[in-house]
Amino acid sequence: MNHETYIGWSSVPRGANVRLADFHTGLANNLRSDKKGKKAVKKWAMESLNENREALSAAHDLFWTDKRYSLLIILQGMDTAGKDGAIKHVMSGLNPQGCRVESFGIPTRNEQNYPFLWRFWRSLPRKGEIGIFNRSYYEDVLVPKIHPEILNTQRLPPGYGSKSFWNARFEDINSFEKQLVNNGVIILKFFLHISFEEQKKRLISRLKTESKQWKFSSSDLSERDHWKQYQAAYEEIFSRTSTDYAPWYIIPADYKWVARMMIADLIVLSIRQLDLRYPEISDIQKMEIEAALEKLQNT
Ligand code: AMP
Ligand code: MG
Repeated sequence: MNHETYIGWSSVPRGANVRLADFHTGLANNLRSDKKGKKAVKKWAMESLNENREALSAAHDLFWTDKRYSLLIILQGMDTAGKDGAIKHVMSGLNPQGCRVESFGIPTRNEQNYPFLWRFWRSLPRKGEIGIFNRSYYEDVLVPKIHPEILNTQRLPPGYGSKSFWNARFEDINSFEKQLVNNGVIILKFFLHISFEEQKKRLISRLKTESKQWKFSSSDLSERDHWKQYQAAYEEIFSRTSTDYAPWYIIPADYKWVARMMIADLIVLSIRQLDLRYPEISDIQKMEIEAALEKLQNT
């Protein structure tokens, strides 16, 4: 099945001038209003997610054994976009020994003692691991763009907030990612793209559901007021940091099952592309194995 035509997903081409309005948040146009189409896609997406979970587990096993690469998954999205759920669902069934999830909030006082990329360097997945950044250094070219006053508290040298300050941050991010890729880190960047309307529904559900209320933060509503500015800041991020070596994928996320299926699919594809194999067993090892089996069976 070609997901691109069925659901409609894209990686952002390098240097593209991204307009988020051009990327749908639900199903591809031809399926959006078609009830039968939606049902069929849902059924297929759920099956595909299950298959992909198994495939991911097998691919991860090989990845963990090989230990020459690590996989870094970056998850970004507006509040309620489904980052936590995607981690839970896509990663279930993986060997916890080879996984690492790091969530990033407002930089702490200690984190502000170092260059902004420091906390991400320390949190990278090790060779053989799949690491997820639940929010990332992309917050550093996002939140302070909308709330520049945040920078006043971060003990930055003069000139912060200027055009050249932002240029330098983007440059740092691109060269950081290039350095990682040069050293065997595979980077996948996912933006969970939800509509303004869908966020409203999810926030209402968060407020009304006891098991979700703890997640509510008053900033969820105040940041919603800046929706357009956030979308514009994200557009700049995609335009400036989607590269051949670390592409952005804008994932339609109004339907959680679509988003999860696609993320799992892209992870499996990217590991499979490495064409990893279990270590070959030499003739001497084969003899040793046979001898060991014989000894065990005879004792
Ligand atoms: P949550 O993901 O709901 O736990 O919230 C974490 C909060 O930290 C979000 O509001 C993020 O936007 C915020 N955050 C993360 N990184 C940064 C950053 N570098 N600068 C400012 N706010 C950030
Ligand atoms: Mg939150």
